[in-house]
Order: sequence, then C-alpha cells, then structure tokens
Amino acid sequence: MTAYLIRNVCVVGGAPTDLLIRDGVVAEIGAGLTAPDATVLDATGLVALPGLVDLHTHLREPGREDAETVESGSRAAALGGYTAVCAMANTSPVADTAGVVEQVWRLGREAGLVDVQPIGAVTVGLAGERLAELGAMADSAAQVRIFSDDGHCVADPKLMRRALEYVKAFDGVVAQHAEEPRLTEGAQMHEGEVSTRLGLTGWPAVAEEAIIARDVLLAEHVGSRLHICHVSTAGSVEVLRHAKARGVKVTAEVTPHHLLLTDEKATTYDPVYKVNPPLRTAADVAALRAALAEGVIDIVATDHAPHAVEDKECEWAYARPGMLGLETALSIALDVLGPQWDLIAERMSRAPARIAGLDSHGLDPAPGVPANLTLVDPAARRVVEPAELASRSRNTPYARMTLPGRIVATFLRGEPTVLDGKAVR
Ligand SMILES: [Zn+2]
Repeated sequence: MTAYLIRNVCVVGGAPTDLLIRDGVVAEIGAGLTAPDATVLDATGLVALPGLVDLHTHLREPGREDAETVESGSRAAALGGYTAVCAMANTSPVADTAGVVEQVWRLGREAGLVDVQPIGAVTVGLAGERLAELGAMADSAAQVRIFSDDGHCVADPKLMRRALEYVKAFDGVVAQHAEEPRLTEGAQMHEGEVSTRLGLTGWPAVAEEAIIARDVLLAEHVGSRLHICHVSTAGSVEVLRHAKARGVKVTAEVTPHHLLLTDEKATTYDPVYKVNPPLRTAADVAALRAALAEGVIDIVATDHAPHAVEDKECEWAYARPGMLGLETALSIALDVLGPQWDLIAERMSRAPARIAGLDSHGLDPAPGVPANLTLVDPAARRVVEPAELASRSRNTPYARMTLPGRIVATFLRGEPTVLDGKAVR
C-alpha cells in the first residue's frame, strides 16, 4: 500500500497543514510532516473534506446497463468526490430480495471505486401491495438498513406503518418518495402558473406535502426512523419543521437540481429538465436553500438518475423523469452555499453517513480515521461537457454551464480513486 503525503491542505476549510495517509487510515496531521516513502501531493489551495456520501443514487444495474452500471456509476461518484453511495432498489429485477441486494453489493466491491450500499425495496416489485423480505435483506451480506420504493410512493398507509414497525428491529429507516399517486395522475411538471401557461398536467405541491404529513405522524406513532427523499416544496419544509419540533425521528434530503433550477425551465420543452418530483418555483427554491442551511433539511442527495438517449431525447410527454447528479453535486452545493466547508461536510458527508449507518464514512480527517476523503479546488471553474462525464448517460441539466469547484483527488480507504481530476481506473 502506497503512503500519500498531502501538503498544505485545508482540512474542512481550516488553516493549511500536511496530512499523511498510510495503511488505509489518516496517520498524521500537522505542519512540516516528513515521510520519505510517501508519494507527495502538493495541495496548496485545496480543501480536504470527508468523502462525500450519497443517500440516493440510481445505478441501473441489474437491468439497464445501457444507462449505467455499478462500475460506471461508481466512477462518476468518485469523480464527484464520493466515497460511498446508496443504490436505489428500482432495478430490473427489483432489489427486493437478499439475492439482488447481495448482487449489487458484490458488484460494488468488485468495482472498488466507492462503497456501494444497496437500498432494499419496501414492497415486492415496488408494486405497493405486500412487504418485501426486509429482514432477509437486513441479514444478508449487504446488511441493508435503508428501504425505499423510490420512483413509487408507498401510498398504502397500512403498508407504510408495517414497514416502519419492521425496520425498528434493526434500526433501519424507510425512505419515502412522497407522492400521493391519485393527485399526480398524468402529471408532467409542477402545477402552477407555468403549467397553466404551457397547458401541461400539473404535479401539485400538496401531493408531496400530504404524504410527508401522514408519514411523520406514522413515524411518531410507531417511534421509527423515517427519511424523506428529494423534498421539493416550501410547504414540505414547514411540515418537516413542525415534525422535528415535536421530536419525530425524521430526516430529509434535497437534490442539487431542486436547489438551483425552477419550473421556468419547462418552457424550453427540453426533457432534460423533466424530473420527479418536478422543478418547482423560485419561492420553493429559496425555502429549500434556507431549510438546508438551517438543518430542517439534513442532507443533499443527488437522485442521480441516468437514462439512455432514447428514454430522454424524445418528446417531453414520453421522456423518463430524472437527471444525472453525481459528478456535479459538489459544484452546485458550492454555488448555493458558498465556501461554508463545515456545512458542506455536514450536509454531504457526515449526516448522510449517520442516516445510512455507514460507520467508516462521514468522518473528518483525523489520526486513526479511515482515509475516505476528497480534495476540492474551490478556485477552479469548469464547463460541464456531457460527453466528458463518466456516467454512461448524458442527461445532465448543467450542460455547458460554468460551475465553481473541481474534485482533484478522492481516496477510498487510503487508495486514490481519482488523482489530478481523473479516475485512476
Ligand atoms: Zn424518487
């Protein structure tokens, strides 16, 4: 194992110092370190963060390897500064058994670029009718702790209650895609002034808020952990604020795109902007930003959703919803939050690692800590070129935009996965 001596790095935005990585852990931090056997990296001007952790990634394998594989998604993640991602269950076959979650977990280990932690489905086939084998998935080699039917809402309140009760036994968490299905039938975009103008069927904010309100009450009733995926409305923030004040064990995520883009993008009819939940209004974006800063929303999660060209470059009505996110998330966070490194570390690494129960991730670099970290150049600016992304898909909403920040290096247990801004493998 190679040792790495990282010189003049600002650890979570602190004063420049040296950081020595050896045998998979951070061995030493301090000024003027020496290590004759180590590879020296000059990190002047760079910030070291604990490796980012994504609670919401679609890796598409098994089933849609044309859109993404565990390996290509892992590479995209490493290039985005991630050392761990949680892989959503809406694959084909669905990750609703111990066999499928173990397959995804094993593929992640083989790729070896990030830790891939599978999420298990709540219901068999994501059909919302009966509970999947939650216990078997928890007991499997993948040790699943997060369960989600993401892409679909667990709409049946009795099933949602049962799932919340079940996961309590192993401190699991149910991650809800909050969308009351009857209120969003045929929906194409956010319901509001722009959808009226365009004549497109709307996805009303209340369809999200009603499910979050129901589920925080259910979580309170059974005393379980609930996580809300991709919160997108100002009203949802108020429901969460109320629930947290009551002591409900609820956490919530917001995506980079919901922090930056609005429903005005739909006026382009470019399906790259079609996503579920849809892009909302500027007032929602402002409320989400404030909630993230305040902590009512706990984390940024990408909802990285690769889609093959034929599923995305077609008429708006037929396009699949979803956007790429892994390779641009840190830049969007930097754009939205500014260089608040401690806040970024909390929202993109420490808190998601805690929610997912990933003990070796989300730890600030310190002696003895697993060397899962990323080096960011905050002064760099880059133009997003879809063809240059490591993802197999091209559906980024940031094409040809200039974004702040660049990931220079990422280390997974002391081994570089990214160096000089390029994937090592
Ligand atoms: Zn979702």
